[in-house]
Amino acid sequence: AAGGMSGSVGKSSIPGVKRIIAVASGKGGVGKSTVSANLAVALAASGAKVGLCDCDLYGPSVAQMFGVDEKPMANEHDEIIPLEAHGLKLMSMGFLLDDRSPVIVRGPMATRYTQQFLRQVAWGDLDYLVLDLPPGTGDIQLTIVQTVTVDGSVIVTTPQEVALIDARKAVSMFAKVNVPILGLIENMAWFEGDDGKRYPIFGKDGGVREAEYMNVPLLGQIPIDIETRERGDSGAPVALVSPEKSKVSAAFHEVAAK
Ligand code: ADP
Repeated sequence: AAGGMSGSVGKSSIPGVKRIIAVASGKGGVGKSTVSANLAVALAASGAKVGLCDCDLYGPSVAQMFGVDEKPMANEHDEIIPLEAHGLKLMSMGFLLDDRSPVIVRGPMATRYTQQFLRQVAWGDLDYLVLDLPPGTGDIQLTIVQTVTVDGSVIVTTPQEVALIDARKAVSMFAKVNVPILGLIENMAWFEGDDGKRYPIFGKDGGVREAEYMNVPLLGQIPIDIETRERGDSGAPVALVSPEKSKVSAAFHEVAAK
């Protein structure tokens, strides 16, 4: 199924890609991109061939998180060749945009771009392709899960009520379109001070209770961590650190092993 006639073409699996995992969140800013990047890195560390596709047209972040900022080339079939960093294949709407100007396109056009984008990347052979979805549960998210066959979804939330409400919506969206839900990740679960005490900045165990309530697995709890933020900003995700040296890295490796 090639591109073109976007709206009328049925969904397809991506040739050569064994498993497609979508990482979603209801609310923005909860750490969905951070989780996507670190899960992708942790999966690759286990020996898998991994790609990460940043599907956020309006707020792409993979370029920053992996320290790559080139224009990708096209191959002879007019497919975009993903960039590579830390052993991962990376693709982002951000690579295709000019400078730092905002994307000004309306919904239907954005949907069409997204479909084309998903169908025109030369991923090659991959064990996992991680899709970093835009936040929310609207047209674009639906388009993505209906354009490619998503094998499982991971929902990221903070323990805070406003985030949990939106996470619930994301879970029901996937349920409606028959995408299996692998589970919930509670990000920013606590901050551990130098005193070793855990401070529940956004509330305690909100994700744990929500997972129970929605009857989906809780895949892990990730604390608020300065190194995680710093490494995200500087292009070397924390999951690259040996799990013995970083609790957060260890947590991501544990989630990836599930
Ligand atoms: P989203 O993709 O949901 O919008 P991001 O992954 O961009 O969220 O994260 C939002 C901000 O929070 C970023 O600046 C990121 O570096 C930071 N962040 C995310 N998770 C953590 C964490 N566990 N500890 C510290 N900072 C985090």
